[in-house]
Amino acid sequence: MKKIQMVDLQSQYYKIKSEVDNAVLNVMDSAAFINGPEVKSFQADLESYLDVKHVIPCANGTDALQIALMALDLQEGDEVITADFTFAATVEVIHLLKLKSVLVDVDYDTFTIDTEAIKKAITPRTKAIIPVHIFGQCGNMEEILRIAKEHNLYVIEDNAQAIGSDFIFSDGTEKKSGTMGTIGTTSFFPSKNLGCYGDGGAIFTSDDELAHRLRGIVNHGMYERYYHDEVGVNSRLDSIQAAVLRKKLPNLDSYNEARRKAADYYDGAFAGNENILTPKRAEYSTHVFHQYTLRITNGKRNELQQYLTEKEIPAMIYYPVALRKQKAYYQESDPSDFVNTDKLLDQVISLPMHTELDEEQLKYITDSVLEFFEK
Ligand SMILES: *Cc1c(COP(=O)(O)O)cnc(C)c1O
Repeated sequence: MKKIQMVDLQSQYYKIKSEVDNAVLNVMDSAAFINGPEVKSFQADLESYLDVKHVIPCANGTDALQIALMALDLQEGDEVITADFTFAATVEVIHLLKLKSVLVDVDYDTFTIDTEAIKKAITPRTKAIIPVHIFGQCGNMEEILRIAKEHNLYVIEDNAQAIGSDFIFSDGTEKKSGTMGTIGTTSFFPSKNLGCYGDGGAIFTSDDELAHRLRGIVNHGMYERYYHDEVGVNSRLDSIQAAVLRKKLPNLDSYNEARRKAADYYDGAFAGNENILTPKRAEYSTHVFHQYTLRITNGKRNELQQYLTEKEIPAMIYYPVALRKQKAYYQESDPSDFVNTDKLLDQVISLPMHTELDEEQLKYITDSVLEFFEK
């Protein structure tokens, strides 16, 4: 059996090696390393895939979030609501810009931001909501957009983990994740569903004025060459990464399908086990399984992880600590407002999930998990 990895980037690369190698070598030959034609072409390819008017490439997914917030003209102390259960980048950029993060609970079954908790957290200083489409499926965007409209709030979708998933509105219309809010952001970190071979990110919007603003901010606040109208940043996707991404984007749907097949296998194997809750698939979103995350309800999550490690099966705890309890973002809180997050911190375990898992590996992983509970 091939060694099991949390993410197997190498096997995926070997399947497209000659194509990607050629594309990268062409960039080397052209010497157009920064803002070359590959960047423009990838931008256009992604706009068309997402059906969004503007894609603004940038250096990584954290920058994408920061730049999105910078474009909204928020004032020091303005409040931004986001989930307590997410990767730190989402809340980090809020603090970096001297805004106030208001962390709220998530839904126990889908891990995405709890819309009732959003409503409870709104104050006169609330300016934006950042739903995180965590582990590969959308938060309840229809309800989030409704709340945002009612209270005149911006919505920034953190789509680093769910690119390619579709949100299904109650009238049946579908939209790609990241294209429904005021702004959407993503990351092309190698292990993300659409990963490059280094760092990369992008910002999406269908608002022409915002797009203009975002393009200025990523480029030193420069709207006309050497005229700096505001303090911006330097955040670029380089041409080599864009060339890699142009070769990978056409495979994104089949990559996500491969992840879903692995998830189906896991779901089937664990169905009915009294100690395991499999991840719920929301009726309003397709799932692209950035992670396949179980909840272990008998209190033996850490022992399971240890057992799997002994069997050479990597398994990760995403995420072990609530952001509201991190030193950097500490927020006073009443535990009764964070019942789901606090349960999840003790129960979640993510199994190997990538595009190259074969049946032999999946059988070994699921057999091993089930074996643990029979001991
Ligand atoms: C990966 C990730 C980011 C940050 O992306 P980078 O490219 O690593 O900066 C932001 N938010 C979420 C939810 C992520 O998973």
